[in-house]
Amino acid sequence: MTVDDCLFCKIVNKEIPSEFLYEDDAFVVFRDINPQAPVHLLIVPKKHIRSINDLTDDDKEIISEIFMVGKKIAKIENVNKSGYKLVFNVEKGGGQVIFHIHLHLIGGWKK
Ligand code: 5GP
Ligand code: ZN
Repeated sequence: MTVDDCLFCKIVNKEIPSEFLYEDDAFVVFRDINPQAPVHLLIVPKKHIRSINDLTDDDKEIISEIFMVGKKIAKIENVNKSGYKLVFNVEKGGGQVIFHIHLHLIGGWKK
């Protein structure tokens, strides 16, 4: 499912060129344009889902797999041992500004 005016759908569909650190059938991973830490990645399901509030039973696999992708990417980015945050912002009050679900992977701070 795609939403015409969704920025992350456009990135997922390669209508807006972006460098993917990782891609599989269900996800893409790219760097946040405005990083809040030395490593700030966005793990984005290809399926358009507005926010955590909109998850259905059909999305159970996506939401479990997204953490497995996070774990894999943390190792590739070499923050797995030092530690990192995995964050979902949910709706405006929770700081969400892009209404296509995504998991932030944030880390790489100096020890
Ligand atoms: P949210 O606040 O919705 O959880 O996170 C959206 C994130 O997307 C923000 O951290 C913002 O910096 C990032 N972002 C917004 N537009 C773009 C873009 O065009 N490209 C990339 N790579 N990141 C973006
Ligand atoms: Zn979308």
